[in-house]
Amino acid sequence: MIEAIIAGAGPAGSVAALTLARAGARVLLLDRARFPRDKLCGDTLNPGAMAILRRLGLDARVEQRGLRLDGMIVTGRGGVRVEGNYGPGLAGRALLRRELDAWLLAAAIDAGAHVEEGVSVQEALVYDGAAGPEVRGVVVKGRDGRPLRIPALVTIAADGRRSTLAFSLGLAGHPDRPRRWAAGAYFQDVDGLSPHGEMHVRRRHYIGVAPLPDGLVNACLVTENRRGFDDPTSLLQRALAADPLLGDRFVRARLVQPAVSLGPLAVDARAAGMPGLLLAGDAAGFIDPMTGDGLRFAQRGGELAAGVALESLEKGAAAAHVRLADERRAEFERKQRFDRALRAIVARPAAVSAGAVAARLAPFLLERIIAVAGDAVSA
Ligand SMILES: Cc1cc2nc3c(=O)[nH]c(=O)nc-3n(C[C@H](O)[C@H](O)[C@H](O)COP(=O)(O)OP(=O)(O)OC[C@H]3O[C@@H](n4cnc5c(N)ncnc54)[C@H](O)[C@@H]3O)c2cc1C
Repeated sequence: MIEAIIAGAGPAGSVAALTLARAGARVLLLDRARFPRDKLCGDTLNPGAMAILRRLGLDARVEQRGLRLDGMIVTGRGGVRVEGNYGPGLAGRALLRRELDAWLLAAAIDAGAHVEEGVSVQEALVYDGAAGPEVRGVVVKGRDGRPLRIPALVTIAADGRRSTLAFSLGLAGHPDRPRRWAAGAYFQDVDGLSPHGEMHVRRRHYIGVAPLPDGLVNACLVTENRRGFDDPTSLLQRALAADPLLGDRFVRARLVQPAVSLGPLAVDARAAGMPGLLLAGDAAGFIDPMTGDGLRFAQRGGELAAGVALESLEKGAAAAHVRLADERRAEFERKQRFDRALRAIVARPAAVSAGAVAARLAPFLLERIIAVAGDAVSA
């Protein structure tokens, strides 16, 4: 019998599968996509995400192929600009998610996980247990189009922001606020790049820019205004052209492929799972990508879910989701609070200006903030 089923082979699912398989569990990892597949993302791994890959022995290829990022540049309205490094010996990497996710999946397969691509998880297999409803596997769309039940002792939902499992079981949903949408695309021939991720914060929207290998550049627009998303390519190009700092830098830029969009971005998870089911990655909650730490949360969340799943395979699954909730709180709560504070500060032009002054007077303070934001040091 399959011991653990994981829905979703993004970074959270692949890291969970790899961790479980390395510990000797029989794991089935399912994804509706076929890899390599694209994923709308800023494509940056912060130093904290790199540290996890290093600990798992998955860093060599990413270090080799990814473009080194030394820190962040944040700009605000009125020409404010703050530049800070992660700190001595600390760096992130910029790399296409298409490549990163395919490598992580290959590592999970090498570790012994069984993977089925092109398989869509439709719902959880829920039974009435002694203490209430219990998840004991999933229902997928079989190759003949008919529902196929796959039982398992533990199920991990790592199926992303709009998790079919978490949403259908009422464990997650989109909150009324914040409501933001994203559009992103790759460009060539962008001017004025440096080994830094960039976040350009404007009134009611922001634009992230990251240099990538092979001269590519990732540009993502995140906005509160839903208008224009029927044509995300024009929307993104208009936002770049109209931007006081980016307009000139994108004059020569060539769009490599049409922009993709998604939203609303924020997902509130009401729990870390339920009996038999554990949530990991964006399926366990997501706000927006401004702080660039989604991949670190996803990888670490996958590890935590796998650790709790292993324990429940040995000792029983009843309260595993409660244990996972405790572990996620201990691990993520302070950083999430820091992220909320940083978002609130960055949303105020006066605060960004004050930050620029403070950065000139006390650069070590800025470096500290950038290091915490990049998960290089603990919040
Ligand atoms: C615009 C934007 C920019 C971002 N930029 C950054 C950044 O620069 N750095 C950073 O660290 N984070 C960034 N993030 C956040 C980051 O992309 C996510 O946090 C990360 O992808 C979460 O990983 P995951 O494994 O949980 O989910 P995902 O990467 O979304 O993977 C989920 C997987 O589940 C599969 N799936 C979904 N539904 C089903 C189903 N029903 N059945 C089977 N499979 C299914 C999907 O095909 C997918 O492969 C950004 C996010 C956005 C929206």
